[in-house]
Amino acid sequence: MIVNMKRSASADEIEHVIDRIKECGFQAHVVRGEERTIIGAVGSSGRRSEIEALRAAPGVADVIQISHPFKLVSRQLRSECTVVDVAGVKVGGGDVVIIAGPCSVESREQLLETARSVKASGATMLRGGAYKPRTSPYDFQGLGVEALRFLKEASDETGLPIVTEVMSEADVEDVAQYADMLQVGARNMQNFSLLRKLATVPKPILLKRGPSATVKEWLLAAEYLLAGGNHDVVLCERGIKTFETATRNTLDLAAVALVKELSHLPVLADPSHGTGLRSLVGPMSKAAIAVGADGLIIEVHPCPERALSDGPQSLDLPGFESLMKELGREPVRDVKAA
Ligand code: PEP
Ligand code: MN
Repeated sequence: MIVNMKRSASADEIEHVIDRIKECGFQAHVVRGEERTIIGAVGSSGRRSEIEALRAAPGVADVIQISHPFKLVSRQLRSECTVVDVAGVKVGGGDVVIIAGPCSVESREQLLETARSVKASGATMLRGGAYKPRTSPYDFQGLGVEALRFLKEASDETGLPIVTEVMSEADVEDVAQYADMLQVGARNMQNFSLLRKLATVPKPILLKRGPSATVKEWLLAAEYLLAGGNHDVVLCERGIKTFETATRNTLDLAAVALVKELSHLPVLADPSHGTGLRSLVGPMSKAAIAVGADGLIIEVHPCPERALSDGPQSLDLPGFESLMKELGREPVRDVKAA
């Protein structure tokens, strides 16, 4: 349930409502908007009728039921868009954020070359997998902590914040030490113990949509992070499984537009995994921006034919540069000075 306070509500009146929500057995989540304060009463075992009775409390404008099963991520609780600050880059703040880099960190040279080039082309963040979720156990699994160190070095040199996937609870501490943003991969979207652990980490989370997850399941996965205390969550549509096999996945851009309606959290699109085909990355990047995506995450490799993972969907360095020009990005001339 949501308690909407009047614009004129005093600090004492707000405090009183928070205390009553807690006394009734709910968690109180306070959203201080520009115009008014909204307080969410969240939980399953509280005394609902007493929250409804708060309509009569001083300073309260209204008490309403949140109609969706997800509460804290809902736009009903917070109408303003959330802006997530990733080491100074604002995600959801109006500018389209472009995250680029290789699927896997393969070597120091490969990563630094890519980082310098995508920075010069106008990317705002760097991606690169250190721990790789591979379908086959015989495929390249990632360089682990060594890759995290290369990512940090690339970030220090270029100034680009880094996002990288954390696959297991056991690696959370290591990844959080190096990364500016922790990615929950599609296969782990409903790994609830991982989500609970990440809810306690003081770093933003990029939560990818599971290949077979509904929008409701995706938003409920995000709810785990917010309910556990981490409000810095960015969602990412990366394509879902459908009957279509011509593309690797089906990039569900309707879901991007829908989630922007349902939730206040920023939403990115991943046209690389969403299509699996290099030639479609540009068109789907433009389409994602057109439907309101707050940013893109794009795989880029200096030599895609030699990539240890996801070469067919990776842009090469000139290909990324041309796409950035088509998207109206200004090239950055002096990488070190930028
Ligand atoms: C990735 O970003 O490299 C990745 C493995 O993505 P996903 O979890 O969406 O498959
Ligand atoms: Mn990949």
